Amino acid sequence: MKLILLGPPGAGKGTQAKMLTERFDIPQISTGDILRAAVKDRTPMGVKAKSFMDAGGLVPDDVVIGIVRERLQNQDCAAGFILDGFPRTVAQADALKETLHSLGKDLDAVISLEVDTEALVERLTGRRTCRECGQGYHVKFDPPREAGRCDACGGELFQRDDDSEETIRKRLEVYHAQTSPLAAYYRNEDLLLPVDGMQEIGTVQEKILSHLQAA
Ligand code: ADP
Ligand code: ADP
Ligand code: ZN
Repeated sequence: MKLILLGPPGAGKGTQAKMLTERFDIPQISTGDILRAAVKDRTPMGVKAKSFMDAGGLVPDDVVIGIVRERLQNQDCAAGFILDGFPRTVAQADALKETLHSLGKDLDAVISLEVDTEALVERLTGRRTCRECGQGYHVKFDPPREAGRCDACGGELFQRDDDSEETIRKRLEVYHAQTSPLAAYYRNEDLLLPVDGMQEIGTVQEKILSHLQAA
């Protein structure tokens, strides 16, 4: 299964991707996670990416395209993959098409998670992530059993710096300007599967699975 999860910040891409990786036993490729790890390790790529991420803008196309190109050649992508947060621009989508073509792979579907803007702000301001294992939570919609502690590993939960209200507004603007055209892009390729992302996490997962079966 070769999938893209498309949708604005806070739509639930990471949450759904993690569930799909278990279901299909294929890796989640999150450019956001890869970039945050590079920032944390202060690699040259991380140093370059940090200011764009802090400001809520996009990291330059050549950087993220390089990440995904390399990652897709990894042996663990042989049976499939879930791209989460990539592509985010038409240039990235074109580069992905070229890369997959050269690897002799075709996308199965692009799942588009549709969520109202106000709900996105509430989801992002309440988002928490485990520092140890990366599991995501929400203080209201998906709380851990013990406040501030990961159910899976007991790690400490933290709030991302870019999940402040001001940076969220900026990221949503960037999404509308640069990423939302990708829905039409993949509709034209007959790959787009729109899913109502306003429902509960488990219901969204069921909808995605039934759409994939029907596709
Ligand atoms: P994205 O990867 O698209 O930015 P996340 O998967 O990180 O989004 O989800 C953003 C926040 O919203 C997280 O705190 C997550 O727990 C919560 N969330 C995800 N899906 C839903 C949902 N269907 N209903 C309510 N909250 C959700
Ligand atoms: P969210 O799903 O909440 O929008 P991500 O974790 O996917 O957040 O991305 C966090 C930040 O990393 C983005 O705001 C952007 O600066 C950078 N980033 C992630 N993926 C890409 C991409 N494909 N192109 C450019 N920048 C990216
Ligand atoms: Zn954890």
